[in-house]
Amino acid sequence: MTTATSTAAPTEREESLSPSESVLTSVYESATRLAIDAEVVDLLKTSWREIRAQLPVRMDDRKLRIFEGYRVQHNGARGPYKGGVRFHPKADLDEVRALAMLMTYKCALMELPFGGAKGGVMCDPSRMSETELNRLTRTYTQHINMILGINRDIPAPDMGTNAQTMAWMMDAYGQLHGHTPGIVTGKPVELGGSYGRDQATGRGVATCMREFARGEGVDPHDIRVVVQGYGNVGSWTCRVASEQGFRVIAVGDVKGGVYNPAGIDIAQLDRWFAVAGSVAGFEEAEPVTNEHLLELECDYLVPAALGEVVTTANAEQVRARAVIEAANHPVTPGADAILARRGVPVLPDILVNAGGVTVSYFEWTQNIQQFRWPLERVITELEARMVAAFGDLMVRTGRDGIRPRQAAFDIALERVARAIKLRGFV
Ligand code: NAD
Repeated sequence: MTTATSTAAPTEREESLSPSESVLTSVYESATRLAIDAEVVDLLKTSWREIRAQLPVRMDDRKLRIFEGYRVQHNGARGPYKGGVRFHPKADLDEVRALAMLMTYKCALMELPFGGAKGGVMCDPSRMSETELNRLTRTYTQHINMILGINRDIPAPDMGTNAQTMAWMMDAYGQLHGHTPGIVTGKPVELGGSYGRDQATGRGVATCMREFARGEGVDPHDIRVVVQGYGNVGSWTCRVASEQGFRVIAVGDVKGGVYNPAGIDIAQLDRWFAVAGSVAGFEEAEPVTNEHLLELECDYLVPAALGEVVTTANAEQVRARAVIEAANHPVTPGADAILARRGVPVLPDILVNAGGVTVSYFEWTQNIQQFRWPLERVITELEARMVAAFGDLMVRTGRDGIRPRQAAFDIALERVARAIKLRGFV
């Protein structure tokens, strides 16, 4: 397998690009290499539709707070819009736009019949009560309900949201349009959610790690893994990767990190987390700051929290042999160039974290058919799709002598451009 990263690497750039401009860097590079029609590229530079909504919410102290919410539908040539909803203080319109663009290419790379979308509300869910979150979610859903639909746009969880948030969204949408479980994915199983959706993204990440290790000819037991983030994606990545034999040596979350070069017992860490609400303070490991965590010597560094955490400021200090992008857009274009120059392969987000949208697709099809798959089938079908997409990407990387991210964008952009042409958009 070719994992060389020295060819066709971009030059190092200043970190002055907005999130959407960063994503477009990859799109333009692929479009130039593939000679994609300029009108198609023009169409993909901006979004089909962007909603910015004022969300007034009565807080528990009876004061009115006005939040700002967004839903961005980037491109729907390949099917209904699909993408998560993020509740985070930094979720602004451009970040949501960038994430919607990534969804267009992620769905195309995985051959899912969806376009790309994303939603966000600028808020700090960790400082809000359950009733406040419930009211905010309903207000958000009411403000965007007219552009949602089982064949139009299907939201899902992302950072700061979860199955409960999706249950509230489904209920708020149902009050306006009648019971429609397929309107969101990542719901609780009791309300039509798919078995395995909670673990899907992390399982997909671990599958990519396993396939990458197989390509390198290294046994997972000999691979030291560092994971930033212990939410949905980070925690499931740790669980499945440790089941597969990988040695998780450090984990961090917003409150701090822990490091044990002999390997962290993830079942024990889960027990600690259930009580403490953070990995910080776990006694079977040493404390480590989040900054230092990214610079620990290891084999695979797995950012699974925020975007833009590996930048030109710290890419030289990364001491991992490979970076596995579990979060969306964790490596900036400038950092990507530095890692490429240093020969550190980066497995791209649009492949690595695509397990979530893949099982969301399974959930949507199950809802449409009013039929439930057993967990074993979900896992088997997820595995098959992740392994196939990983294999296609590595073949393309080797064939064209390009970096994995560019191979992923080449495959995805070709598919999106073809759908645009076939529909007669341009
Ligand atoms: P989550 O809210 O469940 O967890 C986020 C984690 O990041 C938490 O452990 C939090 O403590 C940690 N974190 C937040 N700020 C941090 C900081 N400053 N430093 C270190 N850690 C910090 O979110 P999630 O659903 O696990 O999503 C994580 C990433 O994966 C995001 O980039 C998201 O877009 C991406 N993603 C998620 C899914 C999914 O199915 N949930 C699918 C695809 C991609």
